[in-house]
Amino acid sequence: MLRVGIVGWRGMVGSVLMQRMREENDFALIEPVFFSTSQAGGQGPAIGRTIGPVEDANDLQVLASLPVIISCQGGDYTNAIHPKLRAAGWKGYWIDAASALRMQDQAVIILDPVNMPVITRALDAGLRDFIGGNCTVSLMMMALDGLFKNNLIEWISSMTYQAASGAGAAQMRELVEQMTYLGTHANTLMADPASSALAIDQVVTSALHSDAFPKTQFGYPLAASLLPWIDKDLGNGQSREEWKGQAETNKILGRTTEPLPVDGICVRVSSMRCHSQGLTVKLKKDVPIAEIESMLAAGNSWVDVVPNRREESLAQLTPAQVSGTLRVPIGRLRKMSMGPTYIAAFTVGDQLLWGAAEPLRRMLRVLLTRGI
Ligand code: NAP
Repeated sequence: MLRVGIVGWRGMVGSVLMQRMREENDFALIEPVFFSTSQAGGQGPAIGRTIGPVEDANDLQVLASLPVIISCQGGDYTNAIHPKLRAAGWKGYWIDAASALRMQDQAVIILDPVNMPVITRALDAGLRDFIGGNCTVSLMMMALDGLFKNNLIEWISSMTYQAASGAGAAQMRELVEQMTYLGTHANTLMADPASSALAIDQVVTSALHSDAFPKTQFGYPLAASLLPWIDKDLGNGQSREEWKGQAETNKILGRTTEPLPVDGICVRVSSMRCHSQGLTVKLKKDVPIAEIESMLAAGNSWVDVVPNRREESLAQLTPAQVSGTLRVPIGRLRKMSMGPTYIAAFTVGDQLLWGAAEPLRRMLRVLLTRGI
């Protein structure tokens, strides 16, 4: 049985990956070896059978003995370990959720419903680094897959509403701590039905500004607020998260010349899970909305076109509805007042599934199918 090293299984992405691998019975096909940077010697995750103690994720010798390693540990780990393994001659397959290797020439960004031909060509060419895409980019591409496949897109502007859990397990906890802090401070007023909205607002605002407000992870209040910057400042007015939009979309499509322009503003909001995006899509030609909807619906098996009506949009197109599912709904579809080739759309997807864990476990399945 294929021995597969799994690093980062305790984190946000890793725990969703473990859940999906259990649901899809992936563990029946492999012999997993679990690693941790902090819990070596401890107990691994429950996979329905006995497994050995957790290995040290910094032990290069044990890592190098494995033909496949899946890492959900983060970019610092990848940067520290992957070059050393390759320098020591390791020829295994490295499947990773972190962005560290994504844009390297020898790495492929994996999103098989969209770019299986790119993945197949890479495997045939002997490439061995298969990296999950940025969560927002992957979800946007899953939603717009039908328009990409029909070569209809001239450019995309994406305004994002990204969940707290997209930043990791500690940040997700902190969002709930922030909500609890606000709830506790407003409790007395909330218990009195006669309290004025203004008084409640003042208590919440003063709690947000308090030194005791929990913000170690985010640095700022997210609950009852939002954060209009995600990832590093590139120094040109763009955040690194925004830069990934164009860079990764084109790499996923295997487009090396005439890059498709993709740009927008990335914003962290207080959703727990699921990234949402308001999209403006410039089409290459005028296509009726009904045809666009049909193309989108046919893009892949996970996309759902939501009719652009109030009830359906509010019921189906929200993080609360989509969290924990593999569905990628897209709705609010209409022609914009700028002209017949400008389309508005809104899409929501679970960034921990299609945006992170799912492409990794599916890549493992691709390797198994090829007898690796
Ligand atoms: P994370 O939740 O912070 O977990 C990363 C590691 O932190 C864990 O594997 C664990 O490693 C350690 N850890 C320390 N304290 C922990 C705690 N209380 N609970 C769980 N783990 C703890 O990071 P992540 O969000 O999964 O992200 C991993 C990588 O995937 C990053 O490169 C990220 O950019 C990328 N990614 C994330 C998302 C997302 O939605 N979160 C989406 C796409 C890609 P040890 O066992 O070694 O201690």
